[in-house]
Amino acid sequence: RSNAEKFEFQAEVSRLMDIIINSLYSNKDIFLRELISNASDALDKIRFLALTDKDVLGEGDTAKLEIQIKLDKAKKILSIRDRGIGMTKEDLIKNLGTIAKSGTSAFVEKMQSSGDLNLIGQFGVGFYSAYLVADYIEVISKHNDDIQHVWESKADGKFAVSEDTWNEPLGRGTEIRLHLRDEAGEYLEESKLKDLVKRYSEFINFPINLWASKEVETEVPAEEDESAEEETETTSTEEEKEEDAEEEDSEKKQKTKKVKETVYEWELLNDVKAIWLRSPKEVTEEEYTKFYHSLAKDFSDEKPMAWSHFNAEGDVEFKAVLYVPPKAAHDQYESYYNTNKANLKLYVRRVFISDEFDELLPKYLSFLKGLVDSDTLPLNVSREMLQQHSSLKTIKKKLIRKALDMIRKLAEEDPDEVHDDDKKGIPYNKLLGIRPLIVFQVIFFTDPVDEYLMQYLMDYEDKKFQNVSKEGLKVGKDSKVKELKEAFKELTKWWKESLASENVDDVKISNRLADTPCVVVTSKFGWSANMERIMQSQTL
Ligand code: ADP
Ligand code: MG
Repeated sequence: RSNAEKFEFQAEVSRLMDIIINSLYSNKDIFLRELISNASDALDKIRFLALTDKDVLGEGDTAKLEIQIKLDKAKKILSIRDRGIGMTKEDLIKNLGTIAKSGTSAFVEKMQSSGDLNLIGQFGVGFYSAYLVADYIEVISKHNDDIQHVWESKADGKFAVSEDTWNEPLGRGTEIRLHLRDEAGEYLEESKLKDLVKRYSEFINFPINLWASKEVETEVPAEEDESAEEETETTSTEEEKEEDAEEEDSEKKQKTKKVKETVYEWELLNDVKAIWLRSPKEVTEEEYTKFYHSLAKDFSDEKPMAWSHFNAEGDVEFKAVLYVPPKAAHDQYESYYNTNKANLKLYVRRVFISDEFDELLPKYLSFLKGLVDSDTLPLNVSREMLQQHSSLKTIKKKLIRKALDMIRKLAEEDPDEVHDDDKKGIPYNKLLGIRPLIVFQVIFFTDPVDEYLMQYLMDYEDKKFQNVSKEGLKVGKDSKVKELKEAFKELTKWWKESLASENVDDVKISNRLADTPCVVVTSKFGWSANMERIMQSQTL
């Protein structure tokens, strides 16, 4: 193409693509759910913008918020099209050439060793999974702010972006054209695609339509030529279909006979009724599990440990589904510490608003996954305005109560599930992937996350936790301390003065020691030695 501009992929993307292309054992099916998930994200974005500016949707077909899948068996092309927000030239270069999310490096490393691509969607690089089945991909995209462009790459370290002067105008949105590899022929079978959409994309909230063939029996005029009797005709475009119908009409009075004919029409593959709008009694365990997988982008087949689906009524109305994940997320520490992200998706009247609202759950419950859909919140305001809406406080309060109820119930119903050492013990450990070792009154916390957890876990069943590595530990009676303080007054004073103030905050008499003369501890609100180590390892 004469107007193509050439670019090189960011080194990390290239490495990722190499792994994808050479991955022999991965489940190739996953590419479809990744592309559909991107299409759905893009539709969510334009629908959100349309809340405050209706004109962004455009007119006619362009305004239809849907996903279309089409096959071209002869050319071995599978295309997935959406009428979502689309990408400008700049977007194409940035989004499909570089990796935005942190932690991808680690993922690339992990994939290289394990070859498992199942979690790719969680790392913000799902698009590239399309190269599992295609050796050449064209991305045609039209954003409201730009003219239509084509991005293309053969996964050879480079890609090109051109102004699109030859394809049909999309109106708005994106069409991903996959030129399938020879060994990926199965993805040209309609049955395979239907099966995959059912399996992986069941909970996409936009219609997914397949340009699907259908056998129909039609009456056509009987011709002299008998050999034409068994012939089946393939009609593949809508215009041709119409022409055929006209022909039939005009010749209706002649003698007719029945023939089988293959016609194409859009077939809806998913049921777009949102699961959270259904009554909890009607939703099966399997459906909740599958919904969890799609929410968490975790298709590892593990069942969530618990869930709570409820409908809050009163001043603030909302529906919510909360899940306790089967295991800690790969980025649990990172997202806990660096982002404030609650893992909840917020919808207002079925419209997806954001999954980055930190006002919905407190940090210590950020390991939960789920969704909230409120009828009370206003639709036509910005995210920032919404974030300050007074109803959010009520929603948060109810969510916390339901979340804690769920966790408590989990602990009661199935103590083995949540606790290893003591049937009446702490229900939090396995939920967070930690297993404290309990020796009588003392719990040994050995996992890095314990440091974070213990900042919030003040007590359990009326018993207060005390950190033995911090000052102020109370053990037994400290009746002697006063006396000792007096007796060693001069020594402690001398000691403190001898050690520079940047080394220690204070020198005190303690009653915690038995055989050792002294111990270095952390001040009450300071970082423990373990926490210092964790922080240090994170900055390296
Ligand atoms: P993620 O979806 O987690 O961000 P992907 O690798 O799947 O990661 O997609 C990368 C980016 O490419 C998306 O964030 C989005 O900006 C852009 N993108 C991909 N597909 C589409 C699409 N169909 N419409 C608009 N933008 C898209
Ligand atoms: Mg994606």
